[in-house]
Amino acid sequence: QKAEWAKLKNEPSVSKDGTHVELVANIGTPNDLEGVHNNGAEGVGLYRTEFLYMGRNELPTEEEQFDAYKQVVESLDGKPVVIRTLDIGGDKELPYLDLPEEMNPFLGFRAIRLCLEMKDMFRTQLRALLRAGAFGNLKIMFPMIATLEEFREAKALLEEEQQKLHAEGVETGSDIEVGIMVEIPSTAVMAPQFAKEVDFFSIGTNDLIQYTMAADRMNERVSYLYQPYNPAILGLVKSVIDASHAEGKWTGMCGEMAGDPIAVPLLFGLGLDEFSMSATSVLPARSQLSKMTKQEAADTAAEALKLSTADEVQQLVESRFPMA
Ligand code: PEP
Ligand code: MG
Repeated sequence: QKAEWAKLKNEPSVSKDGTHVELVANIGTPNDLEGVHNNGAEGVGLYRTEFLYMGRNELPTEEEQFDAYKQVVESLDGKPVVIRTLDIGGDKELPYLDLPEEMNPFLGFRAIRLCLEMKDMFRTQLRALLRAGAFGNLKIMFPMIATLEEFREAKALLEEEQQKLHAEGVETGSDIEVGIMVEIPSTAVMAPQFAKEVDFFSIGTNDLIQYTMAADRMNERVSYLYQPYNPAILGLVKSVIDASHAEGKWTGMCGEMAGDPIAVPLLFGLGLDEFSMSATSVLPARSQLSKMTKQEAADTAAEALKLSTADEVQQLVESRFPMA
């Protein structure tokens, strides 16, 4: 199997009938780039920037961030790189910010909520991103968006920083796409409205599943409720994809589900455009996709949506796609 996967390293990701999707990788630091290249990923679908802020005693400067982002986009040499703005809080802490403890950190002051309040910190990151955008195919993504107002405010800050940089004579990327993570059920439900204003969606199933099922993603006792194949999750995923396509936009997925062999046929069948996963899952997924047609996958996904339980969905996929 390994030999078969290796042959696909420099091939595009296409199904048996020639339908193309993007198989890209999740990274945490520029150190992960080697894995991206070795596994033939077609880009980076999620660069989690919080690691730049962690394990130190103060905020990273604009220059430090610019250097890291530039290194990543240059290394990808024109291939897309989706960089997510700071997603701190929840399970990830920054001791030097001195934030009060919370009863429900996953429902609390994290990610975009924190950035919209700590605007100087956020603006610094936005400037670094805009400048790095001049060196490759960089896209910016905001995490944990729950309302359109949050998106509009974040985008307005980005535009302000862009204008300031231009006034200072500093070069920025032109036409940088700006998208959001869909990881909160309200946003999935409101996807038609969001799709008019964002350039793309990336579905964050790690959080979307925990918030939809009300099951803490870190809690073993309730892990039986953490069900990627639950028809409720598949229905949300479908409505997000459909809403984006209705506006001529694209949808990716950057949660663990995107590289799961049971989920891959379903997501392909639902029309997902971009699958972002750990680099080591890219070649197995490419191989899997090469053996199915879009129609087979779409039929299976349509049937799965009508089933009643996650187990039924899993059995259906296993019966249709024995390699899953
Ligand atoms: C997600 O929620 O699916 C996601 C990709 O983000 P993180 O795992 O960093 O919360
Ligand atoms: Mg998340």
